[in-house]
Amino acid sequence: MLSEAEVQSLEGAFAGELIQPGNPRYESARRVWNGMVDRRPAMIARCADEGDVVAALRFARELGLPVAVRGGGHNVAGNAVCDDGVVIDLSAQKGIHVDPALRAVRAQPGVLLGELDRATQAFGLATPTGNVSLTGLAGLTLGGGLGWIARKHGPTCDNLIAADLVTADGDRVTASRDQNPDLLWGLRGGGGNFGVVTSFEYRLHPVGPQVIAGGMVHSFADAADVFRFFADFAAGAPDELSVMASTFPVPATPPFPPEAHGQLVTMLAVCYAGDLDAGEQALRPLRSFGRPLADLISPMAYTALQTGSDGAYPSGRHNYWKSHYIGELTDGAIATIIEHAPLMKSPLSSFYLQHLGGAIGRGGAETAAFGHRDAMFDFAILTVWEDPAESAEHITWARDFADAMQPHSTGVYVNNLGTEGTERVRAAYAPETYERLVALKQTYDPFNVFRLNQNIAPHGA
Ligand SMILES: Cc1cc2nc3c(=O)[nH]c(=O)nc-3n(C[C@H](O)[C@H](O)[C@H](O)COP(=O)(O)OP(=O)(O)OC[C@H]3O[C@@H](n4cnc5c(N)ncnc54)[C@H](O)[C@@H]3O)c2cc1C
Repeated sequence: MLSEAEVQSLEGAFAGELIQPGNPRYESARRVWNGMVDRRPAMIARCADEGDVVAALRFARELGLPVAVRGGGHNVAGNAVCDDGVVIDLSAQKGIHVDPALRAVRAQPGVLLGELDRATQAFGLATPTGNVSLTGLAGLTLGGGLGWIARKHGPTCDNLIAADLVTADGDRVTASRDQNPDLLWGLRGGGGNFGVVTSFEYRLHPVGPQVIAGGMVHSFADAADVFRFFADFAAGAPDELSVMASTFPVPATPPFPPEAHGQLVTMLAVCYAGDLDAGEQALRPLRSFGRPLADLISPMAYTALQTGSDGAYPSGRHNYWKSHYIGELTDGAIATIIEHAPLMKSPLSSFYLQHLGGAIGRGGAETAAFGHRDAMFDFAILTVWEDPAESAEHITWARDFADAMQPHSTGVYVNNLGTEGTERVRAAYAPETYERLVALKQTYDPFNVFRLNQNIAPHGA
């Protein structure tokens, strides 16, 4: 517990909301998306502006308290909240400024993906983000940002053209091509290691407003043929087209046909973001392949695609994820998938292979810390359940499946990591990139104030 005098010292310098244990808003404010995370901070400092970030950071450092930084609070590892420390909570900062003439947008760190899409699509523009609109833009950008239009326009981090941040010392620094370009490089994939980002600026692209999206639903009984087809189809796809193979037990809800309810299926989900006639043509082989249970593909608004999966990922459930980048979907990898998928224990769990390549692969290590651009797929097991008594069985399934996929792994996407240790953070980067991140950390945060994250520790920490 903080003393009254300590709290008062912060109150005088703080414009936003300070939430401590005992405050009726404390219980909801300490919760993050992953219901497994149950931490009790000493203070949640819901910052109204940059000055609040400086004040909260100074307060935490003077008292020697741990610091957590919260954007959207969606990260599965739950590092946006801590025990007994100070949460620098940016979720109330929602400002968005679109400049259609410059094709750029500025966003504050509490903005969610759907909020950004709505603002930019008003002008027929978008920057690539992720696939679930309730995800925080801040954490997604700092770790990379993989979504439906990344093959065409690059991951989110490649479209980050400038950022303002408050460093561990409370200094305000801009990172751009002209100012501190080394820092911009690190923010493009190196996570929340270098400071608290208070403003993000992105490049925009003409997108939609209509795209072709949806998916072909196949029984998992046909998995060998479906995954083989998927690998070949993805390899030949133009940049406008992204395919994701997602395997899950069908919920008893539309748009899935009643005869599929409860079955394990693989949906080959797509987004074609380009000329719609060309898209129909590019999708013809996919739509005529095999014996689909349903064809759910149609033209739709880009914003409808971006919000369409939100209902499948509600906040508060128990979530345990394991993930690998996969270079090539070999017959061996497909055999492993076919062996482990039917052992899935929860009707809420799933796993997916997200199609990479295209502009993601063409980005360079010299412009962004974001790594493993040669991977063809991001493979992720999303284990989800509601009863904490079931945790062990679900976690065991995910671990066994992920271990079996390890021989096919070329690394891991940092934004998919749980609390998995230093070696797994290293696995998110090429060795020389990791060393460059350590050197940057040494410059901007030598005492590792920002360590509740996928931590790049400075030398000697
Ligand atoms: C349902 C769901 C769907 C997802 N889909 C995708 C997807 O399609 N594509 C994809 O790439 N990823 C996806 N992700 C992963 C997502 O990118 C990460 O979870 C990301 O960290 C979420 O950002 P956030 O701001 O909500 O995170 P938070 O939990 O708020 O923060 C995560 C970490 O980011 C850092 N951080 C956050 N804000 C700041 C800031 N302003 N300054 C400095 N550091 C900061 C901190 O270290 C913090 O611990 C998904 C996650 C979920 C839960």
